[in-house]
This record gives sequence, C-alpha cells and structure tokens, in this order.
Amino acid sequence: MSGTVVVGAGLAAAHVVATLREEGDDQPVTLVGDEPVRPYERPPLSKGYLQGATPRDEVFVHPEDWYAEHDVETRFGTTATAVDREARTVALSDGGVLGYDHLVIATGSSPRTLDVPGADLDGVRTLRRLADSDLLRGDLDARSRLVIVGGGWIGLEVAAAARSAGCDVTVLEYAAQPLLRVLGPQLAAHFAALHRAHGVDLRTGVGVEAFDGAAGRVTGVRVGGELVPADVVLVGVGAAPNVGLAVAAGLAADARGIVVDERLRTADPAVLAAGDVALAHNTALGHGLRVEHWDNAIRQGALAARSILGQDAVHDWQPYFYTDQYDLGMEYVGFADADDDVVVRGDPAGSELVAFWLRDGRVRAAMNVNVWDVNDRLRALVGRRIPPERLADESVPLAEL
Ligand SMILES: Cc1cc2nc3c(=O)[nH]c(=O)nc-3n(C[C@H](O)[C@H](O)[C@H](O)COP(=O)(O)OP(=O)(O)OC[C@H]3O[C@@H](n4cnc5c(N)ncnc54)[C@H](O)[C@@H]3O)c2cc1C
Repeated sequence: MSGTVVVGAGLAAAHVVATLREEGDDQPVTLVGDEPVRPYERPPLSKGYLQGATPRDEVFVHPEDWYAEHDVETRFGTTATAVDREARTVALSDGGVLGYDHLVIATGSSPRTLDVPGADLDGVRTLRRLADSDLLRGDLDARSRLVIVGGGWIGLEVAAAARSAGCDVTVLEYAAQPLLRVLGPQLAAHFAALHRAHGVDLRTGVGVEAFDGAAGRVTGVRVGGELVPADVVLVGVGAAPNVGLAVAAGLAADARGIVVDERLRTADPAVLAAGDVALAHNTALGHGLRVEHWDNAIRQGALAARSILGQDAVHDWQPYFYTDQYDLGMEYVGFADADDDVVVRGDPAGSELVAFWLRDGRVRAAMNVNVWDVNDRLRALVGRRIPPERLADESVPLAEL
C-alpha cells in the first residue's frame, strides 16, 4: 500500500487530494498535517473570522466527514519529520512511517519574525493559523491599542478589522508607502489614504528598534527614538517558505522555495511541491515564481494531482489575488514590477477604479477596486499591447479593449 502522501494539510494539500479523487484515482491517499484540524482557508483569519462575522465552520475546505467518505487517510496533528527518497518513505513525529509512490510537499510558509529586543514578549503576535486569529480576536476591543509592524496585505487587513472593532491602530512600515513593492507609488498611496481616512496612524519609512514590556507583556514599540504605546503588537513582515523537509531530503530548495518545473515536479519524479512553498516554473511568464496566494494554492493543488495522474496540464496561468479592507474590495491579476508604467481608469483618488501596469506598451497586470465581474476580462488583457489612452478612456468598454 503506497499511493500518494501529501505533507502539509493546508489549502493546496486539500486540493491535491480532492482532485485525485475527482479524477478517479483509487490509489491510497494520506494527508499529513501538523495542525490539529482539517484543511482550512486562511483569508478569513485576517478578515471576517477575525471580526467574528465568519463562523468557524465556514473556514474549512471540506466538511469533517469528507475525508473518510473519499477514502483519504488523515494524520492531523502529526509532523512529517524526514523524507527518505531512496526508500520512498516519510517519517512522522508519532513514530510512524508512510511509504509513497508520489509525495507532494505542500508545507506552506511561516511568518517572519523580527530579531529585535523584546520580540518574545507576550502580546507580540504573528498571524498564520486559526489559533493565532483566535488570540488576536481576543485582543481587539475598543480599549486596546494595536501596533502593526508591516504595511503588507495581512497588516492592512488586520488594521481594517481592528479599526472596525474600535481599536486604536498604528501601522509602522519600513518603506516609504505600504504595499509599495507590489503596487508602486501611485496605487500604494491609494491604500495609505484609505487607512488614514479610517483613523489609522500610518507611519512610513520607520524601522522598529525594540519592543518594551512590563511583567513579560509588551507595552510599546520603539521606533525612530520614540515609544509607541501598545497593548498588543502584530508583526506582519512577510512569510518564509517551509522548505526544511525538502532541503534535508537533498532536493533543490532554499529561502526562495522548492524548485519545481511547470508540472510541479522536483528533479525526483516521485516528489512534487505545491502552494506557498513551491518555486514553480510559470510558462506564461517564462520564469520560476513562488506565489503566496489563495488562488495559487487551489490551482497548484489541482495541478499536482493532474501531474501525478499523467495528465497534460501545466503551470500556465497569471497569478491572482484579492483583498478586502473596510468597504474596499480588490482583485489583482498578473505579475508586474513596482516601477512599471501605471494607467488608471477612473478617478485615482476615488473608491472605484481599474489600474493597469505596463512595460514597453504591454499590459503586465491589472487590478479592479470596487468594480466587479471584470477580472476575467482583465486577465484576458494581460500580455496585450493596448495604447494607454484607450486603457484610461472610460468611454471605451473593457470588453472592447
Ligand atoms: C491571515 C492570512 C490572510 C490571507 N489572505 C489572503 C487573501 O486575502 N488573498 C489571497 O490571495 N491569499 C491570502 N492569504 C494567503 C493564502 O492563505 C495562502 O497562500 C495559502 O494558505 C497557501 O496554502 P498552502 O496550502 O500552500 O499553505 P498553508 O495554507 O500554509 O498550509 C500548509 C500546512 O502545512 C503544515 N506543515 C508545514 N510543515 C509541515 C510538516 N513538516 N509536517 C506536517 N505539516 C506541515 C503547516 O502547518 C500548514 O498547516 C492569506 C494568508 C494568511 C495567513
């Protein structure tokens, strides 16, 4: 009995096993995850679930009995500790050993932390797991002062949730704008203005020097020689791929992810990687890319299963992600650099707009903000040469570009 072993019971893993079963695979499938619960979606942890609006039941990918009904063996609360590629086995923290014909490493990523004094004080938190969101939710009441280190997606989503709960929120961002590296200065300014309009004390160009505490609990953040008082701190400074298993197994992997081809295979044909951990060759872009987004985990989970089944599918789609902050909902498709040319359709300072990123006259990425049911159309525009005046001209329907 070998079949497929999937390590890391997150979103990508859930879609590996679901696709294997949907495609009629009847070989043994085992899902190994170090968290005590079945796979769940992380986006609600910084949005609806954090705010108490999304019930816990709704975050799971499948109902509880789905795995047994589909003959998927589960080992939740169990860490995969080593892979022996010669013997084709995975060792588990409970002493068990699983044989495999195919192994999918879908171990995701872990929040980066700050190496400054006081980083281990109580109340200095990161956000990745359900339990992290539960703890943070417990901190969000109207009397609390939350300091968020890092103006990335998670930091800004939590800022929005905390402001909605009435907290006093300060965001400390090292760069000159939040989201600068992803969106470039013009659209980054849009998000900065949004948060300031909602009462966030957003400070940019600042680096955290230390966390102050009393009786083991954080009381403030030292930044630029000043002390910002805090009852709780969220450190949202990015995530690092969980490559330890792959590195120890002698696979090509480092801080950039596990190197896989367009079918998500490592150099060992029996071992694949998917989701946040995979540095996967993208045929649409012509280079390897590691993507830390929900859509990618779903699509790559399905693709890993199709590769195992020998189907003709490759990693050929443009990256996609979304965010919700206050009354702003946004979708982004493509892959651009912050210094690409930006064209905005609609009022750049308004609440509804579509933005395009271009290089050498070609659309590389597009984003719709509070404009709905257009993202498929925007996806179709990526890669095309369209005059910027036409892109900006609202009298030309998107469908006619
Ligand atoms: C708070 C938050 C909000 C987000 N919001 C958005 C959003 O709005 N839009 C968007 O596009 N994306 C969002 N994302 C990103 C998205 O959730 C991730 O890209 C997605 O979860 C990646 O799925 P994955 O399966 O690759 O990894 P994960 O979901 O991280 O799953 C990997 C699992 O593997 C486990 N694991 C690791 N090592 C081992 C081991 N050795 N043995 C056993 N198990 C192991 C981990 O503990 C984890 O449970 C958000 C992420 C977070 C944390």
